[in-house]
Amino acid sequence: MKYRRYGKSGLKISVFTFGAMRIPFDESKVTGAERDKAEANAVNTMRKAMELGINHIDTARDYGNSERLVGMGLKELGRNKFYITTKINAVSSYDDTKRNIDEALEKMGIDRIDILDAHGINTDEKLQSATSPNGGVKAMQEARDEGKVAHIAFSSHAGPELLTRTLETGLFETVSLHYYLSYRRNASAVDKAKELDVGVLILSPSEKCGMLYKPTPELSEVCDPVTPLALNHRWMLSNSGVSTLAIGAANPEEFDAHMPGIDDTDELTAEEQAAVQRWEQTETETLGDKRCTICFKCMPCPENVAIPEILRLRNLACAFDMTEFGKMRYNLLGDGGDWFPGEQSDKCTQCGECLPKCPEKLDIPALLAETEQILKAEPKKRLWGS
Ligand code: SF4
Ligand code: SF4
Repeated sequence: MKYRRYGKSGLKISVFTFGAMRIPFDESKVTGAERDKAEANAVNTMRKAMELGINHIDTARDYGNSERLVGMGLKELGRNKFYITTKINAVSSYDDTKRNIDEALEKMGIDRIDILDAHGINTDEKLQSATSPNGGVKAMQEARDEGKVAHIAFSSHAGPELLTRTLETGLFETVSLHYYLSYRRNASAVDKAKELDVGVLILSPSEKCGMLYKPTPELSEVCDPVTPLALNHRWMLSNSGVSTLAIGAANPEEFDAHMPGIDDTDELTAEEQAAVQRWEQTETETLGDKRCTICFKCMPCPENVAIPEILRLRNLACAFDMTEFGKMRYNLLGDGGDWFPGEQSDKCTQCGECLPKCPEKLDIPALLAETEQILKAEPKKRLWGS
């Protein structure tokens, strides 16, 4: 396992972070035996992370009973084996944030949170709320002064403009954001974070890039001899502004597929560079003059249709037969609030406002309608409410 400096926090953290959002379970719906099994699984997943050299766990107040399970693991494996990040909803008031900090400490059985994250600064309103005189960041700073928290961070599902504005407040030592091979839009925010010495964690890149842990044969063939999973990891880590990647394992075995290539040199090898080029070339050749470059210049849409995300899913479905992933993501649209913003294609009124803004001259309403045909299925629910 390699380690990188986590921005101005100064922590040396592993390039993989164990994202503890998939170990929780609903305690009200299990038998005693099932509960024992799920708790043992959580501790064993932490043990496997530790054995692999992972020294950072990312949890949240909103991830069900994740904090309690992390606390069990820390008790068994040793508090000093991991740096712990937990997150509190960014719009929690000053009082609620104070209460949440104490609850998080109690749930995890620790006396200091290494990194406390203002969870989900996804909009300007949330940034204002978090940083207002009665907002959560003030409570986080006071907790830092009292020694309950070591470092203050934020996470965001936003694009580069809001990320940059938030980074420039100078309030945060690390940031969690989206950036991976099929969504490169936040490259400038990663650069800004590097310039400001803010550590960068990439949020669930294997899932959001395209469920790369179960790649389609078409994508595997394009990436071969590298696996799509490894290629995406290596591509993100070839950016020196990236500190760590969140791997959301649900059990010890799920780490295994992530490990190949992780100890290689930081720059992409010639083989990996060629695989990235083939990925891009395949999209260009398959999609021809209907390829969306995910530039976001068509936004905003008056009906709030999520044009770039829908067409990103179309790109992946058409180029690599990634329809299962496309359906999973597409059917979350309309119900994701600012965590996964925008509406599905059926909200398009064909007003034409987006057309002159598209540098690729795409027939956006037609492509949206076509994507609706390919990807529409039963609505899905997000894993957690935030
Ligand atoms: S044509 Fe459809 S997608 Fe384009 S701006 Fe109008 S409503 Fe939005
Ligand atoms: S402007 Fe065109 S290329 Fe850019 S995101 Fe919108 S549809 Fe895609």
